[in-house]
Amino acid sequence: MVDIIIIGAGPIGLACGIEAQKAGFDYLIIDKGCLVNSLFNYPLNMTFFSTAEKLEIGNIPFVSHLPKPNRFEALEYYRKVAMHYQLKVKLYEEILNFGQEEDHYIVHTSKASYRTKAIIIATGFYDIPMKLGIEGEDLPKVHHYYREPHPYFGQKVLVVGAANSAVDVALETYRKGAEVTMVIRSNEISPRVKYWVKPDIENRIKEGSVKAYFNSTLLRIRQHEVDLLTPDGMVTIENDFVLAMTGYTPNFSLLKKAGINFREDEAHTPVYNPATMETNQKNIYLAGVICGGLNTHQWFIENSRVHAEMIINDLKGKKG
Ligand code: FAD
Repeated sequence: MVDIIIIGAGPIGLACGIEAQKAGFDYLIIDKGCLVNSLFNYPLNMTFFSTAEKLEIGNIPFVSHLPKPNRFEALEYYRKVAMHYQLKVKLYEEILNFGQEEDHYIVHTSKASYRTKAIIIATGFYDIPMKLGIEGEDLPKVHHYYREPHPYFGQKVLVVGAANSAVDVALETYRKGAEVTMVIRSNEISPRVKYWVKPDIENRIKEGSVKAYFNSTLLRIRQHEVDLLTPDGMVTIENDFVLAMTGYTPNFSLLKKAGINFREDEAHTPVYNPATMETNQKNIYLAGVICGGLNTHQWFIENSRVHAEMIINDLKGKKG
């Protein structure tokens, strides 16, 4: 029996663990992957849009070479934080289901079952890609995660989407020798794209270095070509790889298993009290990016670090 089980060893789960430890709670952080698993799976060469101090947790300074750290520095930082606080983290153990017994919960994982008085769910949004739902999506040349540009050198790459990830992937693969085409549902690059990157992609499209089909959708994927529905009708282009940067969705089914309700909005926002982060289930809390439901841009590390303190303060208050 522990006081708190924290699900997810992302930056926010770790922040919750630090606050729980400081407050003298017995806790466990459990993650189905490695430490900061989502960050580990980000593109190898990514640079955060936040400056280092905005990604800090537990009052540990984040020293980075440039103002905005990269993935390698972030992995180093969160490892050091976990070591410094000697956080109680269990890795490669997936939370599968929940039970309830008198005044406590049972958390069933891929390895064990734990009794706990409270649960904090900080499972992020990066595990389930939004599928295109079209013919050919299961071909091995179609990827919903992007790692690095090298495999795409000299290849005909179709990038699906026009938000930050899609734009970063299009620019990086183009600069590393791929022949890049973008297929974009709307008539413009997303206004949410980082302000220092947006002119770069717009100018590459304007000069023809990156080809873009606006107001268009990907209809079908075949081994060596793809069909696009464009304002000028159906267009078939040669293709070696499809990088579908169409976003990711939180694991709603896990929240449902915990008995958490959802608002009737488009984002499928889970129900929680914004003052305490407690859900409709007593002593089950939400923290981090998961709080926004499908609106995965609403919460990020910078602005959701505070959830840790809010939750632990609420639990401290209940303890009296
Ligand atoms: P996550 O970091 O996603 O952690 C969730 C954890 O839960 C994961 O480790 C996962 O393995 C684990 N998990 C999920 N399901 C289970 C389960 N069933 N059982 C056990 N464990 C489970 N934000 C910023 O503030 N600044 C930035 O500059 C920035 N740049 C970004 C760049 C990219 C390319 C991307 C994709 C995102 C960026 N973000 C940035 C967003 C930020 O990374 C996320 O908001 C942040 O990771 C949220 O932290 P979290 O702890 O809530 O979730």
